[in-house]
Amino acid sequence: MKFNTKTIHGNQHPEESTGAVMVPVFQTSTYAQNSPGNHKGYAYSRGKNPTRFALENAIASLENGTHGFAFASGLAAIDCVLRTLNPGDEIIAGDDLYGGTYRLFTELFQKYGLSFQYVNMDKPENVVNAISIKTKLIWIETPTNPLMKIADIEAITKMVKQINNTILVAVDNTFATPYLQRPLDLGADIVMHSATKYLGGHSDLVMGALVVKNNKLAEQLHFIQFAAGAIAGPMDSFLALRGIKTLHVRMQRHCENAMFVAQFLSSHPSIETVFYPGLTNHSNHEIAKKQMDDFGGMVSFRFKEDTKTAAFSFLEKIKVFTLAESLGGVESLANHSVTMTHGSIPEEERLKVGITDSLVRLSVGIEDIDDLIADLDQALSK
Ligand SMILES: *Cc1c(COP(=O)(O)O)cnc(C)c1O
Repeated sequence: MKFNTKTIHGNQHPEESTGAVMVPVFQTSTYAQNSPGNHKGYAYSRGKNPTRFALENAIASLENGTHGFAFASGLAAIDCVLRTLNPGDEIIAGDDLYGGTYRLFTELFQKYGLSFQYVNMDKPENVVNAISIKTKLIWIETPTNPLMKIADIEAITKMVKQINNTILVAVDNTFATPYLQRPLDLGADIVMHSATKYLGGHSDLVMGALVVKNNKLAEQLHFIQFAAGAIAGPMDSFLALRGIKTLHVRMQRHCENAMFVAQFLSSHPSIETVFYPGLTNHSNHEIAKKQMDDFGGMVSFRFKEDTKTAAFSFLEKIKVFTLAESLGGVESLANHSVTMTHGSIPEEERLKVGITDSLVRLSVGIEDIDDLIADLDQALSK
């Protein structure tokens, strides 16, 4: 099946007992048994729920994996991956991570004896140079949030596996979605999503997902999902399942609109830099072109006057864009990284990677491009 068919039919089937084309919301915690231990595959919904199971299979199909797992949030999905590790293990992660991921690493898991190294993954050599005997996991985010840096998944995976093929490579594929990039095909072991964003696509749920293609790893993740219990609920699973059926059409428009927005901003006199992997002046444009089928819906930019005042003045004037955290929904959003999504990153750290005071991140929605450009234009005018 081609991707655009898979979003609608991949691993998806009408519900068996009634033929319902959309899998119903199985809003139940438990299931009747004929005799003790004799049931229809469902015993208790923390372990397995038909709506969640349908979604997990659908996401696995999109990522070309064999097993999917849905969680209460994206961070719960990352938490599940980290629980496969042991005290003393080391993780190498990108230096421009989603703020909540960084917080989970530094403020929770470091306490339990895991250690983290943050490297610029623009160059695969930086990852390789950081590997030690204790390294067990490589955590890649690409494109990164909010600076849209690109890591070469295939090159990193190849080099890491050559040194030690037991090191797991995980990719946060939230920004790209499987419409643009399929990390398992590039050699990664685990794909992670904040399904809150593009997979759900309508800003109406919070959810996370993992996909793998290795049975042993799947067993391990399934055990942790069951034992720790941060599962996605049936109603949210239904909404996410509905969301992914239009992933390809939404993503196509997100990409088109974002390219227009990036070009418009690039030519605006009050803007210093636009961060969008689709622009030929982006530092890793060539890798993005090779690795992704298009460049996504996220665009960041910095003002020439690199102050909070410059960013705030713009953010208070936008009308079609909504000033809000999150991304990936049909509506366009704008975000001030320093005060909003990346508030948990110490100033010294964020300045080192380039998250400066005037940095604005746009999640370009699927509205008419003329209205989006007109809105940006009026909000940027003095
Ligand atoms: C939002 C986000 C997360 C966290 O997901 P939640 O669903 O908010 O828990 C992780 N990674 C990226 C890239 C995100 O944008």
